[in-house]
Amino acid sequence: MMDNRYDNDRSRALGDRVERFVRETVIPYETDSRCVPHGPSDELVIELRALVRDAGVLTPHILADGEHLPQRETAHVLIRSGLSPLGPLACNTMAPDEGNMYLLSKIASEEQKRRFLAPMVRGESRSAILMTEPAGEGGAGSDPSMMRTMCRRDGDHWIVDGRKASITGAKGAKVGIVMAKAEAGACMFVVDLPDPAIRIERVIDTIDSSMPGGHAVITIKGLRLPARQMLGEPGEGFKNAQIRLSPARLSHCMRWLGSCIRAHKIAADYACARQAFGKALIDHEGVGFMLAENVIDLRQAELMIDWCADVLDAGNLGTAESSMAKIAVSEGLMRIADRCVQVMGGTGVSRDTVVEQVFREVRAFRIYDGPTEIHKWSLAKKIKREWKTSRGG
Ligand SMILES: Cc1cc2nc3c(=O)[nH]c(=O)nc-3n(C[C@H](O)[C@H](O)[C@H](O)COP(=O)(O)OP(=O)(O)OC[C@H]3O[C@@H](n4cnc5c(N)ncnc54)[C@H](O)[C@@H]3O)c2cc1C
Repeated sequence: MMDNRYDNDRSRALGDRVERFVRETVIPYETDSRCVPHGPSDELVIELRALVRDAGVLTPHILADGEHLPQRETAHVLIRSGLSPLGPLACNTMAPDEGNMYLLSKIASEEQKRRFLAPMVRGESRSAILMTEPAGEGGAGSDPSMMRTMCRRDGDHWIVDGRKASITGAKGAKVGIVMAKAEAGACMFVVDLPDPAIRIERVIDTIDSSMPGGHAVITIKGLRLPARQMLGEPGEGFKNAQIRLSPARLSHCMRWLGSCIRAHKIAADYACARQAFGKALIDHEGVGFMLAENVIDLRQAELMIDWCADVLDAGNLGTAESSMAKIAVSEGLMRIADRCVQVMGGTGVSRDTVVEQVFREVRAFRIYDGPTEIHKWSLAKKIKREWKTSRGG
């Protein structure tokens, strides 16, 4: 499927096994009636997790000794788990869990790891990250400094109050990572879910449908947490979020690249087999060019992912590089998904193939983990900083 020039035997073998599992076992579930608008049901998740355990590719990016694969190798595994929108949730490589596991592995205490991270790695619990707040109330969104959820110390405990929005997977999650503001600055907590003080008001109807639990609006009222459930120190919330940021952006790029590789193959097959005006669609230059542009965008996405993975594997935060990769890949994948729909005509907008869902999912990807414009804006600020420095300013 892919050019394997950069990987090693370990990731090649793992990627092959993940791809076989997704193609043979997961794809047939795409038409399961438990795939509903607010995401696949938890019953379906549990069923798929049993199958993935048998296939030996549960949480494939984390090795038996707890070590995380380097990003470059992770790409091989996550791209292939993404061949179906159900693949990541079957393999436990899905968002937000994959990013949350990464974060907890880096900053959680040993006790927090045992209690919250271990069941996630075993595929027994899902998680949510609670940062964004309702736009209508002036809460945090593109600008996290607008956070209105507050926390205050009360002896050995912290009390958290606020509201959150667009929280993926909160319904059905067993672990929550909550961001709130204290006098010392942003704080991050890890909590058990459900909790009577964390009330899911509603699950929003959204364009995408691949994530179990959908995306919820939540009220947090009088949530009382022992101080040992804080991640890091008071005021370190945004610093912690930075650790998750670049790898989480990149893993979205990996998974959705997998989906677009599959969508492109379906569109190419359609264009080669379908006739119009006396010849195959692909022999009409307009269609052939769309598919040619797809393979260029696919290759560019792969190269951007590999480049950014190398930056992270070298131990850098990769903030600017992951912004560039997120923009280039999400915008490129959107073009690909759109062309796939177009090439397939009425079949493209129908639910007869997965292409229609890939188009919807990739549209949302241009917004979460930083909308394109935010990443461009932060890159522009960096350009200006560098200009000032170069002038001695
Ligand atoms: C499917 C989905 C899942 C999500 N899951 C989660 C989750 O699990 N947890 C969580 O905490 N959040 C989640 N989010 C929220 C997501 O992180 C926010 O939607 C995102 O940060 C943008 O914030 P906002 O929606 O408030 O948009 P706003 O802040 O209102 O911004 C709207 C638009 O304004 C433009 N804009 C804003 N600032 C600038 C600027 N400086 N320059 C140029 N243009 C700008 C951008 O085009 C942006 O899209 C999810 C969102 C979606 C769509």
